[in-house]
Amino acid sequence: MSDDAGLQALREAARLSPDNLPLRQLLAQQLLDKGYLAEAEAEFRAALVLSPKNPDITAGLAEVFVRQGQHGPALAALEPLLATPGCPPRLGVLAARALLGEGDTAGASARYHDAVARDPSVADPDLAARLTPLVTPSIPQAPAPAAPAYAAPAPSPSSSSEEGVERAKITFADVAGMDTVKEALRMKLLLPLQQPELFSAFGKRAGGGVLLYGPPGAGKTHLARAAAGELGAAFVSVGLSDILDMYIGSSERNLRATFDMARRNRPCVLFFDEVDALAARRSDMRQAHTRQIVNQFLAELDGVDQDANEGVLVLAATNAPWYVDAAFRRPGRLDQPVFVPPPDLAARAAILRILCRDKPLAEMDFDAVARATEHFVGADLKGVLDRAVEAKLHESIKAGRPIPLTTHDLLNAARAVRPTAVREWMATARNYVMHANDSGAWDELMPWVKGKW
Ligand code: ADP
Repeated sequence: MSDDAGLQALREAARLSPDNLPLRQLLAQQLLDKGYLAEAEAEFRAALVLSPKNPDITAGLAEVFVRQGQHGPALAALEPLLATPGCPPRLGVLAARALLGEGDTAGASARYHDAVARDPSVADPDLAARLTPLVTPSIPQAPAPAAPAYAAPAPSPSSSSEEGVERAKITFADVAGMDTVKEALRMKLLLPLQQPELFSAFGKRAGGGVLLYGPPGAGKTHLARAAAGELGAAFVSVGLSDILDMYIGSSERNLRATFDMARRNRPCVLFFDEVDALAARRSDMRQAHTRQIVNQFLAELDGVDQDANEGVLVLAATNAPWYVDAAFRRPGRLDQPVFVPPPDLAARAAILRILCRDKPLAEMDFDAVARATEHFVGADLKGVLDRAVEAKLHESIKAGRPIPLTTHDLLNAARAVRPTAVREWMATARNYVMHANDSGAWDELMPWVKGKW
């Protein structure tokens, strides 16, 4: 009883002080401990908006998902953290539980043993008993020879002083193919900052934004991060649905705070993922409120005064450009839609080459793998590589030494991975190009949707 009174007091305190992060975290954790999973989930999500990518909060949210039996979302929450070097080993154990829940015992074992090798105190005997007993007694003491060689598949941005602000470590050199897309971004974003005199001579100012659109996984986020790296600008990345998930009234405050953070860190690339989430919400019950958020977003985009957004480059991404409000595309806003296409054969080989750069390779026929992965986008290719690496990690732990990847490994993994929805995406795009293109907005897609998918 008194426990619940304590919880009630905490709830009330969090309601009165919604921006108090430690308070919200405490509440979320207590809700989790007491098994109020749905409420804990909402609290962890709210806390994550206040402190994106916070490993403790992410771990809490992932734990909620695992306990709810939602293993896919748990892995999705953990994935970005697992890819960063120095990720807390207990997150690896959590990922192992989720992988096991998905039936991937091999992946779960590899994750679990890697985590325990890095920190024996995170061991979970119950979980270990359900995994393949592949670990030899020497592994926990040994510095897990295979793990570091495979540990960091993704270019991992390191955060700078302000939380939520990254210093991207990748540049356009890390983005395979997409030459016309890169050129468009250079013109729009980079040259104005690199050669301001030239631009002001033509009466143009730096700033404004670009709408990146294309099938999911084709590399929009990767490209935005690389643009920041190319420019030496800070990178702030926001999932719009995170902001909108907040309690009514907080969304506007979050948007303002996000833009302000970008302004404090200029030059800055401010990246909004899933920008169509704004439009998608229009049909829901809180329509008036949604309208308010859209207006707030547009007002921030326009800037309160002439110079407010000087040096702030807004990139927004969407898989569903047709849902994005036309008001977003007015001059000075996200006025340049840029199509991020699925990779062709040469681009797939180039992406694979980039993804394999830091991996131990025996021999690798990238062209052969590219030929075997028609309709795969960058994210799918990364999935292929991750799968091959997991299998190799498994073998390496057994052997006690890193075993390099081969063409055969990637071809095998490719057979097990289904490409995501490029074909469906192209079918939808074709409908818009053929039947809703009066303004010519989708002309750029014409040659693509006419291709064979
Ligand atoms: P999107 O934002 O379009 O859904 P992402 O940018 O998240 O896709 O792409 C997923 C992953 O695929 C990236 O993290 C990156 O590792 C890889 N990737 C995608 N496109 C490329 C590319 N052109 N060059 C190198 N890697 C790529």
